[in-house]
Order: sequence, then structure tokens, then C-alpha cells
Amino acid sequence: MNAVVTPSSPDGPATELLAALARRLGAAHVLTDPDAMAGYLAEQRGLYRSRALAVVRPATPEEVAFVVTECRARRIGIVPQGGNTGLVGGSVANGEIILSLGRLNRIRELDPVNATITVEAGCVLKTVQEAADRAGRLFPLALAAEGSCQIGGNLATNAGGTNVLRYGNARDLVLGLEVVLADGRIWHGLSGLRKDNTGYDLKQLFLGSEVSLGIIYGAVLKLFRKPRSRATAFIGCASPHHALRLLERLQAGAGDALSGFEFMAGFALDIVLRHMPGVVRPLAAAHGGYVLAELTSPDPDADLAGRLEMLLAAALAEGVIEDAALGRSEAQNRAFWQLRESVPEAQKREGGSIKHDVSVPVSRVADFIEAASQACTERLPGIRVCAFGHFGDGNIHFNLSQPEGMDKAEFLGFWGEFNRLVHDIVAGMGGSMSAEHGIGLLKREELRRYKDPVALELMRTLKQALDPLNLLNPGKVLDPGGGPPG
Ligand code: FAD
Ligand code: ZN
Repeated sequence: MNAVVTPSSPDGPATELLAALARRLGAAHVLTDPDAMAGYLAEQRGLYRSRALAVVRPATPEEVAFVVTECRARRIGIVPQGGNTGLVGGSVANGEIILSLGRLNRIRELDPVNATITVEAGCVLKTVQEAADRAGRLFPLALAAEGSCQIGGNLATNAGGTNVLRYGNARDLVLGLEVVLADGRIWHGLSGLRKDNTGYDLKQLFLGSEVSLGIIYGAVLKLFRKPRSRATAFIGCASPHHALRLLERLQAGAGDALSGFEFMAGFALDIVLRHMPGVVRPLAAAHGGYVLAELTSPDPDADLAGRLEMLLAAALAEGVIEDAALGRSEAQNRAFWQLRESVPEAQKREGGSIKHDVSVPVSRVADFIEAASQACTERLPGIRVCAFGHFGDGNIHFNLSQPEGMDKAEFLGFWGEFNRLVHDIVAGMGGSMSAEHGIGLLKREELRRYKDPVALELMRTLKQALDPLNLLNPGKVLDPGGGPPG
């Protein structure tokens, strides 16, 4: 089935590859026209721009394997791409082909008794959520890019989001995988088993690997009972330490029902109110920080609003919080979430920002926010700390907005210096400098600096064993230099 490789002129292999791919996939799915490729070459944050030999769009697992085999024969690298929403340049090409998985978008099976859904990598996350919902189940992975990111990308980056507190991140939601390996072989690991002690848990090699070990094209995902009751509150408190005390109380008082505990620094809410049209101030006064807390239960009769109200009243009486508004309707709950989800867009409109996606043990998260805020303010007076995110997971998007009136380019010149300052504090607390978004191109240097050297060595050993020609996503994660292979 494979095309015969005949070495020819220097650019011959590329030309031959494109011809072979067009024969097998159809010319309409091997894009080389710059206009047709434009959407695949742009990158979410505008930090990078791809240069690609072509964008290739297979529709079946066999076609994916064919593309890999053909590329391998000619030593041409492959950059898989899902929804292209990643934030660290992971799906940016530098002369390779971009392998777009979007046409592999079938939901193959939903088994309500096993509580699993079997999907192809190109399914948009929201489509999977909706399919589960129609069957009266919950697929809990939820994040702001859910309307365009794809399951393959979510799994390759081990995405987290707003439900991790209760259900875990992408890594925890997978039972089985199908993967095309760098040599073109297919690993049929599409198991729906909840118990299987027959050796290494191989799927974990590919989850969060950011492609570098194999191309995920199918997955068996876990489903859960659908929440039938919900209570959401927007809470004002004096400081991150007060937010941490509230978290402890809600964990003790609501147990498993606590499914969301998101934090916003005072400045984060200020800029949402300033820049986002139609948003309403949720509380009468301004506070040092805000928490969005959510309880959910599969029991339609659970009185979650009553429980949350009682817990918040006690917290208010004891000075743990300063004010709270309980959502009285689904629309109001949605509006609270809208405030939280608008922070990145509002920050963009506020000017230049330097971002950190970090985690520390939950018990240290308030210490971290305070220590890092102080260190950054001392280094550059007037800098504005836009800390927000998944406080209940110990994961904070510790973003910095430029001082008012400062030139944006001048501020962005501090990027490396602030990264060092913040990541050193994180490392000192036993944390991670990439909690959700991965390494990609953006954090390769940081990985080398902060990752345990033995762990790095093991990662290189695995890469060498599974992709000795460095064909899959070359230049990302482990590679110091980048650029196409061969
Ligand atoms: P892409 O961006 O296309 O690719 C990401 C990486 O995965 C690349 O390295 C790519 O090569 C690789 N890849 C893609 N498909 C495959 C495949 N089939 N097999 C192997 N590798 C593959 N993340 C969180 O964790 N929590 C959040 O709360 C969160 N919020 C976000 C909000 C916004 C507005 C945005 C834009 C992003 C957010 N993210 C968040 C990041 C999000 O997790 C990633 O953007 C998403 O998971 C990537 O999916 P994608 O399909 O767009 O992948
Ligand atoms: Zn996040």
C-alpha cells in the first residue's frame, strides 16, 4: 500500500511525499496553498507563526498511519494539530507537515452501563460533552476553549479546566487509547476496562506527552452521573489566605459536592468590569479577592443552595469572607462563570501581560500568591497582579499586567526576568512551572532548568525508544534547538 520511495533531487522527497499523500487522501486534503493553510499556521497568542510544507487532513486511522509511514520514509517531520488552541506553541510547525486530526471526528460508541464514550481524536470537546449529556451522563472536562479544542489535543496536553477538583484532569478521564506510533504501527489500546493489571500503564506515556511519543487518534473516556442540582456563589474575601480558609470549610462541609473553587484577584475582577460589555458587578463593594464556588450533585432533590448558604453564613460570621452572592437562577450562575472566564480577554484589552501557569500544593497556594505578588511589585512598582484560576487544585494563572502608562514592548522585555522570579518561588514551594498548558516551544528552557535531571533523562530515553528519528513534533518539549529533523 505504501508508495515506493525513490531518492531524487534535494527537494524531491518533499514533492514525492505530497504527491503520495494526495493520491491516497485526495488533493483536497493536502493543502499547500498559503490561503488555505492560513488558519492552521496562525497561533492562539500570536507568539509564533508556522512554516509548513503542507497541511494534511486524514479521515481514518489507516490514513494517519499512511501519512506517518510516508513521512518517515523521507525523514520529514510531523506536527499533529487538533483545534490549534494550545497556548505554548505545541502545534506550530517549522518546515514539517501539519497533520490536522479534525476529520477524525466520529463518536464511535457510548456505553451507559460501562459509563464510557469512545471517540476519535478530532471530536471537538463540546461535541463530546453534548453526546454524554444527551445520554444523561457527564463528561466533565470543561474549559473555555471547549467549542474549538479537540479531544486529541486535550489528551496530548493533559488539559485541566474548571472541574478538576472533583473529577481530575484529562489524564484521569481516560481508560484506553489508540495511537499511531512514529514507525507507523498502530497500538490498539482502546480498552474500556477499569481494572487491568497486565503490565505498564502505556496510555500514560501518551497522555500529556504533547505528541512527542505518538499520535492519538482514538480514546475511551470515562463518563459520570450528570449533575441534577447545582448551587453557585460569588464570594468576596480579604486575601488569598482567607480564600484558603474558605476552601477548607467548604471541603469539610460539602465534601464531594464541591466541584469548583476558582479564585480571582481584585484586579482581575476590576478589568473584567472595565472591559467586558454587559457584565454586572456581582457584589456591592470591592474586595481583595474573589472566589467562585460551586456545589453539584446527581441527586435532583439535594438542597445544595441551602447547604452553601449555611456554610457561607458561618464563614461570614467568623470573618473568613466579607460578602457573598448566591446564584438564584441558572442565568445568574452562568453570569458568575462568565466573570471568571472573561479574565484572559479582559487582560488582553488591558495591555501587555506576562503569564505564568503554575501549581503548588493546595496548602501553599495562598503563600504563593502573596510571595509572588510581593516579589513582582518590589521588582517593578506599579505592576498589576492578575492572579486567577483553579485555586482548589493549587493551580494559579499568575499573570502580570503592565504598569499603567508603561510602553508595552518595554514591559514585555521583562518576560524572562519575571519568569525566573515567579518560577523560582514556585520551585521553592515544590510546585510546577507548567500546571495546565504544557511545554511546547514556550517552556523548553524552563523544563531544562526546573525538571529533575533524572526525570529528564528518563523522558529522553522514552523519546529515543519510541521516536528515534525525532519525527513527531520535533523541536518541542525536550529539544533544545527546534527545527525540522533530518
Ligand atoms: P492543539 O492546540 O491543536 O495541540 C496542542 C498539542 O497537542 C500540540 O502539541 C499538538 O501537536 C498536540 N496534539 C493535538 N492533537 C493531537 C493528537 N491527536 N495526538 C497527539 N498530539 C496531538 N487548558 C487547561 O488545562 N485548562 C484550562 O482552563 C484552559 N483554558 C483555556 C482557555 C482558552 C481560551 C484557551 C485558548 C486554552 C485553554 N486551555 C486550558 C488550553 C487547552 O487545554 C488547550 O488549548 C487544548 O487542550 C488543546 O487542544 P487543541 O485540540 O486545540 O490542541
Ligand atoms: Zn486554567
